[in-house]
Amino acid sequence: MTAGAEELELVDPSTEQVIATVRLAGLEDADRAIERAAAATTRWRDVAPGDRARLLRRFAERVDGALEELARLEVANAGHTISNARFEAGNVRDVLEYYSGAPERHSGRQIPVAGGVDVTFLEPLGVVGVIAPWNFPMPIAAWGFAPALAAGNAVVLKPSELTPLTAMRLAELALDAGIPDGVLQVVVGTGPVVGWRFVTHPAVRKVCFTGSSAVGKAIMAGCADQVKRVTLELGGKSANVVFADADIERAAAAAPYAVFDNAGQDCCARSRILVERPVFERFMELLEVAVAAVAVGDPGDEATEMGPLISAARREAVARYVDGSAVAFRGHAPSGPGFWYPPTVLSPVVPGSRVLTEEIFGPVTAVVPFEDERDAIRIANDTTYGLSGSLWTRDVGRAMRVARALETGALSVNSNSSVRYSTPFGGFKHSGLGRELGPDALESFSELKNVFISTEE
Ligand code: NAD
Repeated sequence: MTAGAEELELVDPSTEQVIATVRLAGLEDADRAIERAAAATTRWRDVAPGDRARLLRRFAERVDGALEELARLEVANAGHTISNARFEAGNVRDVLEYYSGAPERHSGRQIPVAGGVDVTFLEPLGVVGVIAPWNFPMPIAAWGFAPALAAGNAVVLKPSELTPLTAMRLAELALDAGIPDGVLQVVVGTGPVVGWRFVTHPAVRKVCFTGSSAVGKAIMAGCADQVKRVTLELGGKSANVVFADADIERAAAAAPYAVFDNAGQDCCARSRILVERPVFERFMELLEVAVAAVAVGDPGDEATEMGPLISAARREAVARYVDGSAVAFRGHAPSGPGFWYPPTVLSPVVPGSRVLTEEIFGPVTAVVPFEDERDAIRIANDTTYGLSGSLWTRDVGRAMRVARALETGALSVNSNSSVRYSTPFGGFKHSGLGRELGPDALESFSELKNVFISTEE
């Protein structure tokens, strides 16, 4: 990407070719969009619940109809594999369908009180600003805008300036589905200009931010000034914990995909693999075979399992982490144009080193042995992050003990799957604040209002 005064050139990370040029919004554009959204909130909250539900379902249908087009845009703009990109567009459809059930069910309560009737209402917040990163442009935008719209809010969405194309198309599909003008707007601009305006503009009543912990902390501090609601989905350093009693073959075969998917540019990447000492050597042998088999290459090819990194800068940052570390083995990566980096496994690793504590956000994982259950919990929790993680064991009691002891928001046992649209997702510690997805997310897009009506004569 190169930024001119007003334009951005978007680059295909697998070829380094310019694929599109988009106009970069400035402060005035952001203000105009926020003001239009503020005007649209009144219209949107007045749409009858059943009609709001119908419009969201129609939006989901439009996304489904454009699934291949959206997926191809993401392959070109973000270097995602075509199979992942189809899943991601399908996820937007599913999240919209899931929350289309909400407008008619998102209700308050009647609370017994003396002298009257007490009822609560879940009121829309007003305008919600969604700030999305480049690593999963479609799903993360939808995890913000779908529940926000369902709860009666208008949304201004700022995609990452590196990957705005699918968000722009989604906004067109929303209009096409009949979502009123101004209710969902996409503003393509830089973080410090457009994203920060969501923080400072008083008409934006909530910021829903997904991105790095450093920017997330600044956004939280900025929002404090207006006591603005904030949801933060930040970085991760998740552990994949493999006990000696586990199905070692299955755990090792699955481990590469838990960290190299999306070229490791995944907040849930299991970038630390902890293996109980008695099976460490065996696990490493199996892992080497599995890593060698990961198909890295043209993301548009149906058989490809891992594409390029997003940019040359990201590749340099990843390479700096690996410099000076012991590489146990590596997978393949194409040479020539494109921001390629091979799947890389580090071992042995010095306890406390950067590769064990910092989010690398590339296809790199570190494997470390542990002695027993307590040791596994200690190492897994020895990070400021707490987003995701896996544990592999055949002992149900141990699975529950360890799952409860790990300081992390989304865990899986004998599986590496962290995210489902119908279950809560979010982090402990520096990985975030609040939860997205699932039945509870709607509450964070609503204000709880209490009304007492006297029945005294
Ligand atoms: P980033 O923090 O650089 O940018 C994220 C978004 O914030 C972009 O749209 C960017 O333009 C905007 N932004 C940047 N500076 C801003 C500012 N001062 N004010 C307002 N907005 C600003 O992150 P990134 O590099 O795009 O994404 C990678 C990070 O996102 C990783 O740390 C990853 O772990 C995290 N992430 C977390 C989740 C999750 O759900 N927890 C999911 C995906 C990615």
